[in-house]
Parts: sequence; C-alpha cells; structure tokens
Amino acid sequence: MGMTMTQKILAAHAGLNSVKPGQLIKAKLDMVLGNDITSPVAIKEFDKVGLDKVFDINKIAIVPDHFTPNKDIKSAEQVKICREFSKKMGIVNFFEVGQMGVEHALLPEKGLVVPGDVVIGADSHTCTYGALGAFSTGIGSTDMAAGMATGEAWFKVPEAIKFKLKGKPRKWVGGKDVILHIIGMIGVDGALYKSMEFTGEGCRELSMDDRFTIANMAIEAGAKNGIFEVDEKTEEYVKEHSVRAYTAYKADEDAEYCSAYEIDLDTIKPTVAFPHLPENARTIDNVGDIKIHQVVIGSCTNGRIEDMRIAAEVLKGRKVHGDVRCIIIPATQKIWKQAMNEGLFDIFIDSGAAVSTPTCGPCLGGHMGILAKGERAVSTTNRNFVGRMGHPESEVYLASPAIAAASAILGKIAGPEELD
Ligand code: SF4
Repeated sequence: MGMTMTQKILAAHAGLNSVKPGQLIKAKLDMVLGNDITSPVAIKEFDKVGLDKVFDINKIAIVPDHFTPNKDIKSAEQVKICREFSKKMGIVNFFEVGQMGVEHALLPEKGLVVPGDVVIGADSHTCTYGALGAFSTGIGSTDMAAGMATGEAWFKVPEAIKFKLKGKPRKWVGGKDVILHIIGMIGVDGALYKSMEFTGEGCRELSMDDRFTIANMAIEAGAKNGIFEVDEKTEEYVKEHSVRAYTAYKADEDAEYCSAYEIDLDTIKPTVAFPHLPENARTIDNVGDIKIHQVVIGSCTNGRIEDMRIAAEVLKGRKVHGDVRCIIIPATQKIWKQAMNEGLFDIFIDSGAAVSTPTCGPCLGGHMGILAKGERAVSTTNRNFVGRMGHPESEVYLASPAIAAASAILGKIAGPEELD
C-alpha cells in the first residue's frame, strides 16, 4: 500500500521503510519548540531528570512571544526561566525581545524548518510548518522536555484526508477564507487526529503566506497536522530563508485516504467565523449588521507581510471608525521593518490604527487589546472561543486582513467591496 506525505516523513524519521495509520512509532526530531508559557513547565520536567545538556543545541527553539515584552511580574519570571535555561544549555535559538516574533511566523523566516522535517512544539499551532511540506504538530510540555532530552518523540501514525484544490481565489479571498470555508464544511472535529493533506493545481495559486495560514488552522479542525505538497513556491521560499538540505516528499499514487474533498477556490467567498467556534463560518454576504468595537490584524495566522499589505490596501486614504480601536501587529521584527520600509505604517497611522511590536498579545487575551464585557472584535487570529480575547461575555469574529480592515473603517463586519 502507498503512503501519504505525512506517512513518508514519519517512516523516514523512524528508520522504517513504511508505516501504516494507527502504528506507534518513535521518530527523530529536527526541531523542538517552546514559548514563554510552555517552556518553563518543560524546563522544570527536564531538570527533574538531572541532565546537564540537551540533545542538540541547534535543534531547540525557545520563543518568548505570548506575554512579551513582559506584561507583568509573572510573565517576566517565566521568560527569565527560559532565558537562563537557554544560556545554561547553550541553546542557539532563544529569541530575546528585539529578535523575537510570533513563533510560527519566526521559525520559517529564520530558516529553522525545511521540507521533510519532523517538528514538535509545545504550542498547538506548531502545525503551521506543514505549509513547507514538513510534519509538524503540537505537543505538551512534558513531551517537549523529553524531546529536548532525547531528540525523539513517539507518534501514532495518522490517517489522512485529501483536500484537492483547483481554480484560483478571487480578489480579496485568501488563505484565511479557504481554511474557514473548510472548517465550516467539516467542523472543529472534522479531522480529529488526522493529517490534512493539501494537493492539486489550486495550491499553486496560493502564496506561501496563504499556505501558512491554512496549515496554521489545521488544528482548528482537530487535525494532527496539515501539509502541502512542495512546489516551486516552496522551493523559492526555502532557498531564500534557509541553507539546510531538505527532502520533498510526495504522496504515492495509491496512498490511502479516509476521505477526500475537491475544493474549487473560484467559488470561495470572503468568510467570517462567528463566536464561539471557528466552524461557525458564514460568507460575508450573510453576516448581517454587526457593530464592532475592536479590530486586530496580526498573529501567527495573519501577521505576515502579505497580510500587512492587504490591510494597507484597504485602509489607504480612509479612517478607522470612531467607535473602533484598530490594532495592527506585524508578527516578526523582519515583517515590522519591511512594513515600515514599504510605507505601510504611514497608511496605518494616518488611518487611526495603532501599530504594536511583535507579540501574541490580544490573540490569547494576554495584553495589548483585551475586550471588555459585551465588546465585539473582528480578528485575523485563529480562535474565537468564549473569553479568548478578554471578558467571557465578549465576542470574537475570525476573518481575513481584508475583512478586518474594512470592518475597522465601517464600524461593523464588512468586506472591502462595501467601501466606496
Ligand atoms: Fe498562539 Fe495566538 Fe500566539 Fe499564534 S499568535 S502562537 S495562536 S497565542
């Protein structure tokens, strides 16, 4: 029986010729990731074992991004643990404020993940790197500790669902609309412990930033991972960001999938996920009249340079509505600088938006834009659970940067086509 992309990567890292869904394997790791919330717990567990070194100082990344620059004493103590551990162990990829960015935007940008890698991260959106044709998945802090110690992790080989994409997205439709459409179709448990494999000619019409957004939200359908076939765009991205050698795995012709969908990108409309689940997807022509108080454009889902450019295209020459706070957070220092150099900050600031240093911040209700009781936000982030961005009686509507920016101007959920 043939293997899927994920199965091939896992087999290669387990030293096996082939693997089957459901099989338990131990695989070698190319990268172990943690952030300022999850790493301190992992470090405590690591210390309990009494080891004085990690398996490979180049294959661990610790990114304090959630509550940084530190929002309070507790968060400062958490990062101090990360900083001191990284220094003691000689971990190369510890990213201090000033180099730090949102982890899942930062690692690909730094060339730390390449096609064919196996990556674990103590953060559920580690699945983002599937955009590069890598197997990457979220794990808990104890698995992070074990990964840092041994360079290995065990996995149950997932079954796979095939998403064959065709056509080309229309203007104002991007990766966020595609993945919200898919989650709306299959539900938040539609891919439970499965691999979401994206193939087909339509993939070529998606930018790398679109693919990162789509793979990032595979976990919102319950998936173990999301993964794209490697093509010229992937190769170009990897060449620009990394010097590491890599292997591009392609699914066999006779690979088995537990289900398959064909999605015509031409037919997808701008989409919004209503509170309090990403599966509550509605197309922009079906949202009704919903007044909002805040807009957030950023995060590991949509804080990349293309997202900044789209937001600027919509905000240019227009003003943020008087009842709305619009917060824009480029996901990394590099994106921040690029956006500044392209003049996007002039557009944002002239429109009345605030621009923040890179941080997860409001995405998880951490800081930099918490919602009060009864407030509503349109956000380019990936989760709209109860209380995700603040008060349990606040509401988060997930959308693309285009919808978020248009909503900021009109003071209600709207697409850019509703602007003059
Ligand atoms: Fe998690 Fe949000 Fe940070 Fe992404 S931006 S890593 S979803 S908290």
